[in-house]
Amino acid sequence: LARKHSEMRMKDQRVQTHPCYSKDAHKYARIHLPVAPACNIQCNYCNRKFDCSNETRPGVVSKLLSPAEAVHRFQAVKKRMPELKVVGIAGPGDPLANPNATLATLKGVAEIDDDVHLCVSTNGLNLPEQVDALAGVGVHHLTITINSLSAKTASELYSWAYFNNQRLRGIEAAEALIEQQMKGLKLASEAGILVKVNTVLVPGINDGESLSALAKEIQSRGALLHNVMPLISDPAHGTFFGLNHIPGPDKEQLEAARKVAGMDMQQMTHCQQCRADAVGKLDSDQSCASKELDSSVAT
Ligand code: SF4
Ligand code: SF4
Repeated sequence: LARKHSEMRMKDQRVQTHPCYSKDAHKYARIHLPVAPACNIQCNYCNRKFDCSNETRPGVVSKLLSPAEAVHRFQAVKKRMPELKVVGIAGPGDPLANPNATLATLKGVAEIDDDVHLCVSTNGLNLPEQVDALAGVGVHHLTITINSLSAKTASELYSWAYFNNQRLRGIEAAEALIEQQMKGLKLASEAGILVKVNTVLVPGINDGESLSALAKEIQSRGALLHNVMPLISDPAHGTFFGLNHIPGPDKEQLEAARKVAGMDMQQMTHCQQCRADAVGKLDSDQSCASKELDSSVAT
């Protein structure tokens, strides 16, 4: 019983000191280290020329770092930002499609600071095979972007998935992705990792009934928090990328979706849809494109 209580206290403390997991943790800062360029799927809302970090924010470019440069950037930022509490890898591609760079970076950070939370954001395709490695380097916070449980719906959101050395398309790609996401979510929760699920709300595609089923399923597989986030598209520029012609949801659509999903899953409503190289507190972001931060990276 004592062990159970201590695990719960630890879990609570990890939630209360991560600004994305708790609104009350806004005094703490996070840094995203952009070390993961490749991706193993093609979301129709992503343009690879830009960062998306699984958090769907297109339109900004970051300088890619090697693991050594990333650890150095962390050190430099931590020196002048003692409130830095979270180190995340969120892109610009999928961190688990770049496992060597992701794990080397997390390990390097953990070796010089055992107090920061290590955080990873993924589409989940490679997750089941990587859960042990993530837990092994001390990752306690994980975000999986899961947009639908239905392969038919998902096939409208993704063009392809590169899985088991094969490029899958359509329903086949969607089925493989969903199966891996579900497996990975359960394994990660069982490993004691606090899992947040992001769902990109695409009006006319994954809103409506499927959201309720999704919330129920992720709840039963141990997810802690659900972040229904709006599609960021750019209809003015036509079909620049897959779903660009679909306008993102308005405030009412987003609130309605969160209400449906909120019946089963606690909703995150303060997500800033950050860049893959975001630095600072959630309400006062700085980007690593700034000269000051770039000059902090030794080459
Ligand atoms: Fe882009 Fe992320 Fe989707 Fe990969 S998982 S295609 S990087 S949004
Ligand atoms: Fe947190 Fe959302 Fe920013 Fe990720 S994108 S660091 S969940 S606020």
